[in-house]
Amino acid sequence: MAEKILGIIGGGQLGSMLCMAAKKLDVKTIIYCDDSDAPAQNFCDEFIFGNYDNKDKIIDFTNKINVVTYEFENIPYLTLNEINKIKPVLPKPSINRIIQHRLAEKDFINKLNIRTTRYVLVEKKSDLDTLEDFLPGILKTTTMGYDGKGQYPIKKISDLQTLNIDFSKGYILEKLVRLKKEISVIITRFNTNKYEIYEPIENTHENQILKYSKIPAEISNDIFNQSKEWAINIAEELKYIGTLCVEFFIDRNDNLYVNEIAPRVHNSGHLTINAYNVSQFENHIRAVCSLEKIPTKKLSNAKMVNLIGNEIEPYRLNNKLSQNQFFFDYLKKEIKDKRKMGHITTLI
Ligand code: ADP
Ligand code: MG
Repeated sequence: MAEKILGIIGGGQLGSMLCMAAKKLDVKTIIYCDDSDAPAQNFCDEFIFGNYDNKDKIIDFTNKINVVTYEFENIPYLTLNEINKIKPVLPKPSINRIIQHRLAEKDFINKLNIRTTRYVLVEKKSDLDTLEDFLPGILKTTTMGYDGKGQYPIKKISDLQTLNIDFSKGYILEKLVRLKKEISVIITRFNTNKYEIYEPIENTHENQILKYSKIPAEISNDIFNQSKEWAINIAEELKYIGTLCVEFFIDRNDNLYVNEIAPRVHNSGHLTINAYNVSQFENHIRAVCSLEKIPTKKLSNAKMVNLIGNEIEPYRLNNKLSQNQFFFDYLKKEIKDKRKMGHITTLI
């Protein structure tokens, strides 16, 4: 068979890590991205710069590849759907459409009888007058949010006076969960209805951005099993192909909630590169390119720390890492506040 050519939409660090995994499997990668500085161009075989609604460029890209995947969920559904008429897009565009909209996503999860936070659609400012019951809460844009962007914590209705919120955008209000812990479960589902699943990962956020991940998560057996079961239910119901991440909240009474689903590889799974025989990235490539499924085994416990903003600088200057530590520099052109610049995984 001729060599596989995988198209990847999006050129951030997740795209880079997908390219590195593809290289190992002799899969060629072509990245399409709307950022001419995209860091993944350092890792792919070919890079195409263009907007996600540029039909001609998208068609050129589609003609060059065998199958398309994406590294972030906020790609216009129409674009994915157009590509899918010519070459397979995996995971399916219809899945992305559900998950990129917080309301549709939460409705879908609840239909499976899986618990989420309490939430309600907010279409205009006056809707909030009757929603005392959901406070304290977090107002979130229904689309395009990531790393806490587009989120407003609200303790009381009068907090809205000080916030300048554009209600034409579409929001949901979510009741605040009194968090004990956050975990995530990463699963890769293959075409044959089979899957590989990683053990739950414990995550710590700072300012709504992931800061630390570790395995094993310090959780009860019940939560260990329940979180994996729910991740499997979600992947099966979606007939998902590829790697998917489910983010969970655990409250102070040990209730488990699904927070959100990421229809892609996930930051909390970076530690799978060093801690498992097959990483979340390699499993994703194997699944979307119909390659062999290899039993995924943990080699070591691990912890990962994200290097945010200028935290990366000392690590760029020296390599004072021990043998069990792995430093990744995403090679982003510019250091910015709150920007994920790199990470370090330590095997423990
Ligand atoms: P994003 O799409 O930006 O990742 P999330 O909904 O996952 O948005 O929110 C980011 C983080 O903010 C969560 O991981 C959690 O730490 C905190 N958070 C969000 N919603 C809630 C909530 N309803 N209750 C408690 N904490 C929350
Ligand atoms: Mg999140």
